[in-house]
Amino acid sequence: MIQYTLTPEPAAHLWRICLSFYSKDNRPLQIKLPNWVPGSYLIRDFSRHVVGIEASCNGRPAVLEQVSKNEWTVENQGGEWQIHYTVYAFDLSVRGSFLSAERGFFDGACLLLRVEGYENRLHQITFPQLPENWQIATTMPVTGERTFQTTSYAELIDYPFELGVFETLHFEACGIPHRIVLSGHYRDFDRSRLLGDVQKICAAELEMFAGTAPFQEYLFLLHVGDNIYGGLEHTSSTALLADRNSLPAHGMGEPDDAYTQLLGLFGHEYFHAWNVKSIKPAAFAPYRLDSESYTEQLWAFEGITSYYDDLFLARSGVISPEAYLKLLAQGITRVQQGKGRLKQTLAQSSFTAWNKFYKQDENSPNAIVSYYQKGALAAL
Ligand SMILES: [Zn+2]
Repeated sequence: MIQYTLTPEPAAHLWRICLSFYSKDNRPLQIKLPNWVPGSYLIRDFSRHVVGIEASCNGRPAVLEQVSKNEWTVENQGGEWQIHYTVYAFDLSVRGSFLSAERGFFDGACLLLRVEGYENRLHQITFPQLPENWQIATTMPVTGERTFQTTSYAELIDYPFELGVFETLHFEACGIPHRIVLSGHYRDFDRSRLLGDVQKICAAELEMFAGTAPFQEYLFLLHVGDNIYGGLEHTSSTALLADRNSLPAHGMGEPDDAYTQLLGLFGHEYFHAWNVKSIKPAAFAPYRLDSESYTEQLWAFEGITSYYDDLFLARSGVISPEAYLKLLAQGITRVQQGKGRLKQTLAQSSFTAWNKFYKQDENSPNAIVSYYQKGALAAL
């Protein structure tokens, strides 16, 4: 078993992590941290946040040699290994790790080292010590107090964690339990409206896949703040960021633009549980997280998902057909206005996501087309 104990040092925004495992091999160990996270196609170099790392075997210090920005190696004659390392966590995005006196969030890809060749062992995470009253939200299977386990490293990094004091809302769709965990600061809002609308969207998507889902429960981790927006998909959960003003006020009639966009985000990331987490490009099976993984198909995975995220708002009845057609018209206008649509095909836009779509500048509207927006029109 590969075990990680995570101890927060919230005031310093540091995670102190101990990785321990038994090796019976008689060859050097290679230990790596991913350079990118599935679902977000940019080299992020998470290893730049590792601020200290040391190793011991059978209680005796061992010399770790760093061989690249994200990889270490160490001589090994077998035994009980412990790798102690510290990671700085102050990235308030859905693809990073964050730790403050108020809350913690992490995506395993940016925090949890991988032992080369040991990926298919059981992997276990424990939090021996958390600030008082902190709760833990994740869909990673629980095996003990503050202890969670997966059967592989690939699974390990597919479960984001939210830690802190947060509000949890529950609903069921097609008999499957769903949770929305809300963190951050927000005014009172219409909880039953949010629950009702998200429930309808999830039920409509589940129906499209004949009620079969790649999960037995589903978790929306929603962090609200000022002028933030985004989401990252996982197989049985998603991490979302939204502006606090997008939550539905009591007495709201037709959804306003901000709430419509929030509901679209819920529907978008949920649809990804099937499209890209279960049905995926060959280049992502398995994910190779050291360097770019090129595919011409992101337009199918993001574009088709973007087409359906708006359509399900109408199909589920949370917005009117007229409101849907307005969203569609806006989408067509956005694509037609950009000259980039004449410079790139959808396949080229997908393939170059790493250095073009994810690294946009003042010339991007002239040079590239969004595989989300034009992909949605192709899906239509
Ligand atoms: Zn997406």
